Amino acid sequence: MLEKSSFYKKKIIVFDLDGTIVDLDVDWTYLKENLKKRYFKKYNEDCEFVSISECLNNIVKREDEIELLEIFKIVEDFEMKSINRTKPIDEIVSFIKNITDIPFLQEVNLSILSLNTRKTIKEVLKLFKIYKYFNLIVGKEDVRYWKPNPEGLLKIKSHFKVENQEIIYFGDKQKDLKTGKNANIDSFLINDLIDLIAKNLDFLQ
Ligand SMILES: [Mg+2]
Repeated sequence: MLEKSSFYKKKIIVFDLDGTIVDLDVDWTYLKENLKKRYFKKYNEDCEFVSISECLNNIVKREDEIELLEIFKIVEDFEMKSINRTKPIDEIVSFIKNITDIPFLQEVNLSILSLNTRKTIKEVLKLFKIYKYFNLIVGKEDVRYWKPNPEGLLKIKSHFKVENQEIIYFGDKQKDLKTGKNANIDSFLINDLIDLIAKNLDFLQ
C-alpha cells in the first residue's frame, strides 16, 4: 500500500507518461494497423502488434536497427499529430509543480520512463510547463527491451547511481507494476498517489 512513508529515503521518482501524468489522444488502433501492414510488407511475416513493443522485440532479434529507427520516427510523427489534444491529469501535474515544497521530497530527482517517443514526452511536458522538473527522460528510442522488461528502470538507476530501494515508479498499467517488480524497484499505480494526495491534505506540506 502506498503511504507517505513509501517516499522516505527515495531519491528518484519515476513516472510513466500516458495515463499517468497526462492522457494522450492517440489512435493506437490505427497506428498498430499501419505498423502491422508495414511489418508484413518488410518481412513477409505476420506480427499482430497487440502491443507495439512485442513486434519491436522481433525487429531487435532480427538486428534490423534501420527499420527500428524508421518505426520510431513513424510513431513519433503519429504521436505528435494529436499532441494538442492531450489532457493533463491535474492532481499529478500539480504534485510535480509543487514537489519542491514537500519537505521530504526536496532532494528528489524526477524522471520519465515511457513507451512514447522522446520528442512526444518532451513536448507534452512543455505543454503543461513541467519539463523543467525532470532530470532524465527515457523514451521508446532509449531502450531495446521495452516494459515490462526492466531495462528502462535499470538505466535510470545507473544514470543516477542509486540503489533500487531509492527509486519509486508510478504508472497506470499492470505492465508498469510488472516492470517495477522485474527491476526489483517499488512501483505503484498512479491512482494510489492520487488517493494519497486526496486523503492526506497535509501531504503537500
Ligand atoms: Mg501509461
